[in-house]
Amino acid sequence: MPSISEEDIAAVVEVLRSGWLTTGARAKQFEREFAEYVGVKHAVAMNSATAALHLGLDAIGLQRGEDVLVPTMTFAATAEVVRYFDARPVLLDVDPDTLNLTPATVEAYLEEHAEVRDGAAYDRKTGARIRAIVPVHFGGLPVDMPAMMEVANRFSVTVNEDAAHTLPASIDGRSVGTYGKANAFSFYANKNITTGEGGMLVTDDDAVADRARIMCLHGISRDAWQRFTAQGSWYYEIVAPGYKYNLTDIAAALGLSQMKRVGEFLEGRTNIARHYDSLFADNEIVRTPSWGREGVVHSWHLYPIRLRTEQLSISRAEFIDAMKAKGIGTSVHYTPLHMHPYYRENYGYTPDDLPVAKAQYEGLITLPLYPKMTSEDVEYVASTVNDLVAQHRR
Ligand SMILES: *Cc1c(COP(=O)(O)O)cnc(C)c1O
Repeated sequence: MPSISEEDIAAVVEVLRSGWLTTGARAKQFEREFAEYVGVKHAVAMNSATAALHLGLDAIGLQRGEDVLVPTMTFAATAEVVRYFDARPVLLDVDPDTLNLTPATVEAYLEEHAEVRDGAAYDRKTGARIRAIVPVHFGGLPVDMPAMMEVANRFSVTVNEDAAHTLPASIDGRSVGTYGKANAFSFYANKNITTGEGGMLVTDDDAVADRARIMCLHGISRDAWQRFTAQGSWYYEIVAPGYKYNLTDIAAALGLSQMKRVGEFLEGRTNIARHYDSLFADNEIVRTPSWGREGVVHSWHLYPIRLRTEQLSISRAEFIDAMKAKGIGTSVHYTPLHMHPYYRENYGYTPDDLPVAKAQYEGLITLPLYPKMTSEDVEYVASTVNDLVAQHRR
């Protein structure tokens, strides 16, 4: 549930009254403040993180027939953008504790499959270039990015982070979403800050930022625009068949206003996660999510518990229905991608191909977590879970 303040509403109303609704001064300001906040050179505002993931892969030059390594435990967007290029998403298993793709898994995959020639990695069997890795910071828990970058660099593979769940999440003070080459943040309605729909591509690379800006708005070159303004403000040049991915000033004003409360949101989310943990401390059927090592800041986008369903007489689906009957909406993040029909049918995956994700999925339930939740709300959710477990224990 999004936290919208009166100040957020006033910021949007101000844009509506200004007469300038589409991309303009607010979007530029949002880009500047966001880049400064996470600590990167460039931020390019877009109308979704999916757009930012897509243009991130475009900017690193992904070509058809190439491979991109993606964790199976993620949202549809992370892998679908690879298909936009007619490239192959190679789905990899996740760590049973963090549900993240680990550097060790990527290293083992690359050691088995990759041959490095002239500063590029190729699959030994298929000959396909292994172009990129897209790690996802699951639920807001950072992937070990320093180690991931070390592995990727050793094999000459580019990293683009899917940082949709983060903000603010960091490793030893450095924000995640700043390690990879072209990284994506999301401002979808349920994310840690929202613009309704929106996303941000962030990068330290000038060429990546230039390319993303051009592709984000119909392949129109701003440089050409600036170069030829002498000819009149009507002049522009199309340099590529681009997309319509720009963020409106209406959305950017909401984003700017929400940014002011990033710290407050984090504190609220962290306190709720800690409160849940304490309420489940004596329940060995409920496995609570990992906090990561010392020095890691978890953004607590999600609080996914894992039920040891083999010790319960009801299924996970029945558990979710019973929670719903008590007025509590839960969901499952995620059905692993390799278990969905598209990936099964087109790539021949079977559920047991990635056994850790499959096994963890079977007990996964995401509990409500949003900054406005009261202590009583958290206690009600946790006691409902604990009561159901007690009632249905084998
Ligand atoms: C929400 C989400 C996205 C997509 O974000 P949009 O802004 O809705 O496009 C991508 N990846 C992950 C992991 C997400 O949770």
